[in-house]
Amino acid sequence: MEQKINTLKVVDAQENYSGLVYNFGAGPAMLPREVMQLARAEFLDWHGSGMSVMEISHRSDEFMSIAAQTEADFRDILDIPDNYKVLFLQGGASSQFAMVPLNLLADKKSADYFHTGTWSGKAVKEAERFCQVNVIADPEVGAGGGQMMSIPEQKTWSLNSDAAYVYYTDNETISGVEFPSIPEVGDVPLVSDMTSNLLSRPLNVSRHGVIFAGAQKNIGPSGLVIVIVREDLIGHAPKHIPSMYDYAVQAKNDSMFNTPPTYSWYMSGLVLKWIKQQGGLKAMEKLSHIRSGKLYQVIDDSDFYHNSINPKYRSNMNVSFTLNDDSLNEKFVSEAKDHGLVALQGHRSVGGMRASMYNAMPEEGVDALIAFMQEFECSNG
Ligand SMILES: *Cc1c(COP(=O)(O)O)cnc(C)c1O
Repeated sequence: MEQKINTLKVVDAQENYSGLVYNFGAGPAMLPREVMQLARAEFLDWHGSGMSVMEISHRSDEFMSIAAQTEADFRDILDIPDNYKVLFLQGGASSQFAMVPLNLLADKKSADYFHTGTWSGKAVKEAERFCQVNVIADPEVGAGGGQMMSIPEQKTWSLNSDAAYVYYTDNETISGVEFPSIPEVGDVPLVSDMTSNLLSRPLNVSRHGVIFAGAQKNIGPSGLVIVIVREDLIGHAPKHIPSMYDYAVQAKNDSMFNTPPTYSWYMSGLVLKWIKQQGGLKAMEKLSHIRSGKLYQVIDDSDFYHNSINPKYRSNMNVSFTLNDDSLNEKFVSEAKDHGLVALQGHRSVGGMRASMYNAMPEEGVDALIAFMQEFECSNG
């Protein structure tokens, strides 16, 4: 395929990028085409300001209006109650692995963590720097080698009533394991990393104390992390922690304690407008079920492809699969690329394949992947 984008030559704005591909990468991931086109149209001159959003002060009226509109749309789409703050921070989702314990422990000494795969594993490691971590579900003790093929039944959870909070990763991006519903944990504040599935389905925010999501999977460009935090959980961080890591400081300054990632904030705003136009989270959920349903069906119907996640907990965003002959992996990835289907190789820690299909992946992208998979199976099966 011709590489048209990686060049410093001035590209005609009217050029038709017929070489664009379906990107199944886990993140940074593809954004809706319409959003990219609008961003391009507004790139040099945002709404008659004569400047790019990238060049506008975060304190200007122009950017303040972008920031306020983005937050309003975000609140509207997720139906966020008034007693929650929405923070637009930097440091990615991983910054929250530390900010959550720093801000929520208060005078408690421990927290409960569902360890269901790689990302919750990283969160556990970070939290262990600050408190005692009770691991509720532990893939290290099973056969999964650090990945869960399932989420343990509720009757097996030993929740600790003295925990400062209970933490779970709603969708484990690497293996493709997703909580089908919000875990029942009683009165202890519930914290969720929703980096790879926020905005993919309607959500009852009020069941949570904190929800966070790095933007680069389903919301916008990388670096930005959006944090939804219940107001009564703000203001309990010890005095010695860095100001940047204190929810109270960030909330008091409307996420502008320092210069926020303005362009990522703006791009996320365009994505939110697009979601609204598509019919909101119900429409996103419907599309996600269509995409993942089709693909799992093809995998389950074949002896050539395999997915080992318990069907009840299969992710609607990240569909992992293996070929029955590992030596065909490279061939699969490279021929898929020739078909305009890119970034299908699984995470380096688990191997195999993974098709990440966030909101921006059109149904036609999945249809193209399925057609390729069936063709590949015929010629190699
Ligand atoms: C990608 C991902 C992260 C890490 O995001 P960064 O912004 O790179 O820190 C954390 N959690 C989940 C579930 C992810 O998918």
